[in-house]
Amino acid sequence: MDKEKTGTRQKNVRAAQAEGVCKRGEHGGAAGAVFLDWYKRRAASKIKERVEYWARLAGLRHGGIRINSAAKRWGSCGRNGGLNFSWRLVMAPHAALDYVVVHELSHLVHMNHSPDFWNTVRRIMPDYDAGRQWLKNNGHLLLV
Ligand SMILES: [Zn+2]
Repeated sequence: MDKEKTGTRQKNVRAAQAEGVCKRGEHGGAAGAVFLDWYKRRAASKIKERVEYWARLAGLRHGGIRINSAAKRWGSCGRNGGLNFSWRLVMAPHAALDYVVVHELSHLVHMNHSPDFWNTVRRIMPDYDAGRQWLKNNGHLLLV
C-alpha cells in the first residue's frame, strides 16, 4: 500500500471516530461473527422448512434452495427451478416469509407476474396480501 492511501485510510478512520461511527467489526469481533453465522444457519433451515411445507401443499417440485444475504431482493426463482431466498426474511413476520416462499414457488408455474401468476399465488395462499403489504411497508426494517 502506498503512503498516500495509508494517509487517506487513517483520515477516514479518524473521520469515522469523530462522528461516533465504529470501525467494521469493532463491536462484535469474533463473537459477533460466530453469532451471525449461527443465526444465518438457523434462518436457512427455517426458510427451507417453509419452502418444503408450501411446495408439498401446492404439489410443486423445485430445483433446490439457496440462501443468500441479498438486501434488496427477498427471493428469486431461476430458470432451472432453483429458488433463492435472503436469510433476512426470518426477521419478518411469518405471513411475510410465507408470502415470499409462495411467490417464488408460483414462479415454477408462471415465470412472470401475469394475472395467471397471481391466481396461482392466491390459490396456494388466499391471504397472501397481508404478508405482501407488510414487506412493502416494512421491508427496510430487515436491512439491519
Ligand atoms: Zn416474482
